[in-house]
Amino acid sequence: MLQCQRCLEDVAVGVRSRSRLRLVPAGEDWGDQDLDDDSYEALELEGLLDVRALIEDEVLLSLPAIALHEQCSPPGAGADSDVAKPSPFAKLGTELGRLKQGK
Ligand SMILES: [Zn+2]
Repeated sequence: MLQCQRCLEDVAVGVRSRSRLRLVPAGEDWGDQDLDDDSYEALELEGLLDVRALIEDEVLLSLPAIALHEQCSPPGAGADSDVAKPSPFAKLGTELGRLKQGK
């Protein structure tokens, strides 16, 4: 769940990611011909691989920069809020008119 940047409500965002990794022990030769093959990502490994951190990074990279519902409205832009409430400036104009008539 992310926050919709238009209406500020929760929006479910699906993530699908597929990665191929080649783990290369630190200090070991990567092999020149393998560097040209971009069907996988070579990852230099020092010690144990933190799979959880790796998955977390993949998910974060897969998320959209801006999450939005396909259809929604900004807060306060509903049909009833604009129509039902009179503008504060309209009320001010009425008050000013009443004051001028009083003079
Ligand atoms: Zn929204």
